[in-house]
Amino acid sequence: MNGLVLVINAGSSSLKYDLIDVGSAESLASGLVERIGEASSLARHSVDGQDHRQEASLADHGAAFELVLAAFGEHGPDLGEIELLAVGHRVVHGGADFSEPTRIDDDVEATIERLIPLAPLHNPANLKGIRVARAHFPDVPQVAVFDTAFHQTLPPRAYTYAIKRDWREDHRVRRYGFHGTSHSYVSRRAAELLGLAVEDANVIVLHLGNGASATAVAGGRSVDTSMGLSPLEGLVMGTRPGDLDPSLPAHLSRAGISLEEYDRALNKESGVKGLAGTNDFRELQERADAGDRDACLALDVVAHRLRKYIGAYAAVLGRVDAVAFTAGIGEHSPPVRAAALQGLTELFGIELDEAANAAATSGEHRISTDSSRVAVLVVPTEEELEIAREAAAVATS
Ligand code: ADP
Repeated sequence: MNGLVLVINAGSSSLKYDLIDVGSAESLASGLVERIGEASSLARHSVDGQDHRQEASLADHGAAFELVLAAFGEHGPDLGEIELLAVGHRVVHGGADFSEPTRIDDDVEATIERLIPLAPLHNPANLKGIRVARAHFPDVPQVAVFDTAFHQTLPPRAYTYAIKRDWREDHRVRRYGFHGTSHSYVSRRAAELLGLAVEDANVIVLHLGNGASATAVAGGRSVDTSMGLSPLEGLVMGTRPGDLDPSLPAHLSRAGISLEEYDRALNKESGVKGLAGTNDFRELQERADAGDRDACLALDVVAHRLRKYIGAYAAVLGRVDAVAFTAGIGEHSPPVRAAALQGLTELFGIELDEAANAAATSGEHRISTDSSRVAVLVVPTEEELEIAREAAAVATS
């Protein structure tokens, strides 16, 4: 399929974009505007291997989008001169309303707005991106690609929390899962790399970036995933704790800690940052290698949680063809991968090839031994390309 798709990922104070040629799978230009709404915003536009940076005062996402269009005009390719097939928007929460990429109209926009209580940090920002892009390109199809959509195949036994009916029904409390675009792409690519049909492949995908999640994928369908109602649950992450005892809010409120403080700390000051003061895994590894006890403990806790999820998802799947690592840490950190798979040979048949693992610091790799029953793969995630492909497919359907 040919055509140019502008992919937009709007955060609360940022606007990321990527102009992708879906036919060649190439990015023609990409960029990022940060600190929108602050005194001084920073913008980078990258094209032909060159970064063009500027500072500006941008009051809101509308002003940021104007700046992006001007950067395209100045440094190319000029969006006024080319025909866009679609604009693809990353939207974090699609609730139970969206199980696939969806062409945006006023009703879809209103539904994304109605879902704000489920993603108060993300959906409002995503909506800002949608609104400015719709205003600027009223005749170009706009497509929402949801982080949650891939996980809408979870069976009730996996998505249901064992809590009161009215909480589940009136407040839509259930497991939704996130990083779906990445889990979908990586599980499919893992099957391809193994020469298996997607319908025949069982894959455990470990997306380890600043946010981290594990998904059990059976025959191309997500059947369990570690993030839940929000992206806080599951694995230990950069600044989020993953699984916790549900009594913690009550316990801390009795000690005078407000819910606002609890929410903030769990989003921004927990995970390895809470354990060792940094969420940069490169720094963490260097400190651990030099014997820093906090850094060693943090990496140990991360690896222990990963092993537990791999074991759990092996039990959920019954048979595992591959474990696939992706995102910043999964793609670039041999020690984290080795620690996550330690001790899984006898029971699960997962045998890491230490040399192949150490050498795999970028690109696609198989890092298990030839005799390993389960293949271990490194598969760089391609979230922007995947969003562009899905948006193009919806726009031309
Ligand atoms: P996100 O998109 O969720 O912000 P990324 O997928 O870019 O995150 O991953 C960011 C994480 O990857 C950071 O914790 C960073 O320290 C880690 N990372 C990047 N490169 C390396 C590396 N070479 N070794 C270890 N960790 C790395």
